[in-house]
Amino acid sequence: MKYLAPGVWRLKEAPRPLINVYLAEDVLIDAGRRWDKRRIFAELEGREISMLALTHVHPDHQGCAKAVCEARGVPLACHAGDVDAMEGRKPVAATSNPGAKFFARMWEGPPHKVDRVLGEGDEVAGFRVVHAPGHAPGEVIFFRDSDRVAICGDVVRNCTYVTMRTRLSPPPNELTPDPAENRRSIRKLAELNPSLILPGHGPPVTDIAAFERFASALSG
Ligand SMILES: [Zn+2]
Repeated sequence: MKYLAPGVWRLKEAPRPLINVYLAEDVLIDAGRRWDKRRIFAELEGREISMLALTHVHPDHQGCAKAVCEARGVPLACHAGDVDAMEGRKPVAATSNPGAKFFARMWEGPPHKVDRVLGEGDEVAGFRVVHAPGHAPGEVIFFRDSDRVAICGDVVRNCTYVTMRTRLSPPPNELTPDPAENRRSIRKLAELNPSLILPGHGPPVTDIAAFERFASALSG
């Protein structure tokens, strides 16, 4: 586990943090791909967890949700907008892109019942739920007001999938049903005035001035 902020760690991933799973106090945030089971279970060995909370229900974030919740006997939480996808009544990857569909089938985990439906302002491990849709209808930012740490899911990413280089960008359009709404969510994230941004993909965003320039340069 890599320590990132008081009470916040990222589960190990070699060679780079490409698909992130965080631990906030005793709440696991996101659950990787289906094939991340060994890594996630190894990292959680000997640790108590009380809940799994998802930033959004996509194949690279819900992959081990059922496995973790069943093995550890913990409840699953996600935003109201993604409950149907998590419980199997709607597709997890709303995409028509053939490449994305191919990966989605490999990565996606089975449906699982959502025990706690999250809404704006709810509290999870000392973080406040901020609804930030666009990339997924139920995407959320977990924001901690005391030190302004933001766990932001895929509202922004800090790496490219192809080269795995560190670079701030919006999520790819082919995986984002409403890119304009996601841009509004990026501005919402900027308005929270975060001190540290922990994205779903890539290392932490620590250059907040660069993030603010990136957010204000987005058009539409
Ligand atoms: Zn993702």
